[in-house]
Amino acid sequence: MTDDNNDDWKPQTALVHGGALRSHFGETSEALYLTQGFLYDSAEAAEARFKGEEPGFIYSRYANPTVDMFEKRMCALEGAEDARATASGMAAVSAALLCSLKAGDHVVAARALFGSCRWVVETLMPRYGIETTLVDGASLEAWESAVRTNTKLFFLESPTNPTLEVCDIAAIAQLADSIGARLVVDNVFATPLLQKPLELGAHVVVYSATKHIDGQGRCLGGVVLSDKDWIDEHLHDYFRHTGPSLSPFNAWTLLKGLETLPLRVRQQMESASRVADYLAEHPKVPRVIYPGRSDHPQAGIVARQMKGGSTLVCFDVEGGKQAAYAVENALKIIGISNNLGDAKSLITHPATTTHKNLSEEAQAEAGIKPGTLRLSLGLEDTGDLLADLDRALSRV
Ligand SMILES: *Cc1c(COP(=O)(O)O)cnc(C)c1O
Repeated sequence: MTDDNNDDWKPQTALVHGGALRSHFGETSEALYLTQGFLYDSAEAAEARFKGEEPGFIYSRYANPTVDMFEKRMCALEGAEDARATASGMAAVSAALLCSLKAGDHVVAARALFGSCRWVVETLMPRYGIETTLVDGASLEAWESAVRTNTKLFFLESPTNPTLEVCDIAAIAQLADSIGARLVVDNVFATPLLQKPLELGAHVVVYSATKHIDGQGRCLGGVVLSDKDWIDEHLHDYFRHTGPSLSPFNAWTLLKGLETLPLRVRQQMESASRVADYLAEHPKVPRVIYPGRSDHPQAGIVARQMKGGSTLVCFDVEGGKQAAYAVENALKIIGISNNLGDAKSLITHPATTTHKNLSEEAQAEAGIKPGTLRLSLGLEDTGDLLADLDRALSRV
């Protein structure tokens, strides 16, 4: 097998060639090694491999050549030393959080989290004696005042779901460093192309590869990226023995997704930006939140830490839930779905779907109103999407 990697590659090149392990057949497309295990030439070779004295694969729960290609390609894109790919985004988040924590440790997390992430922090971790505090992620003072002597980890998502609020990653990373804690960033909404948390000082970055990385609505996946020392010390054994590993088939699909990621994100972002500008002018839309606009509440931080405004737009429709439903139901191209980052444009009503488990007060605190909709832009023609929205909004 050959391993062609080059540190000087630009992202577009790394996403097509990075991490490739080409077999002696010389296949152009990455090979799919759909195998559980691997054979050894001799009993001695098996022993040497188990001792780590000889390179090679042992068992696909630990590592697999196709999964390895995906991990290496993600490392090349992210500028990370090492990675572990997981079966879903939630497997990545829970591994990244739980692998290094123990009873008696304290975690500070931004309150505006993806629903399942919030459950892990708020409900699961306290069951095992890990104390957690949820804060307003956009307020640096809130992070500072939540710190305790036993604080070991910070966790945030930026931009957040669904209101696309932005946290100052560099400032929060600096605070984490000053107290010897680690900052874990869920970078799904920004994508690895528009924001590089490790460059901003974060210690660990996690993705749901289910979203833009697959980008075509096919399979679940996730990945945890960090420095080699942290992965060796904390994630390596946790990952091997708890089994969140990514299937080789899904890794292969995700590798194909990475090849077109820059093209897709660029097109989706262009549509998002045009749709946000259109909505901002619409008389039935009292609020539009898009990190690429100068009226975004944290526009200054966006300019410092992001290369673009993301592929999502959040907006309110005048008339509350009834009006929001009327818009959703009148759309012909844009589908109603809680998913995002897909080739197909998708819209969701967070208050009754993704965020229905939050109390009314918690929803209000998170900026989720009865008329709030979250739109994920797909790859359709932007003009067709604008026409679809325009027709739907005329029903309000
Ligand atoms: C979707 C998502 C997850 C969970 O990913 P799955 O692949 O669905 O498990 C975690 N965080 C964010 C921000 C997400 O959008």
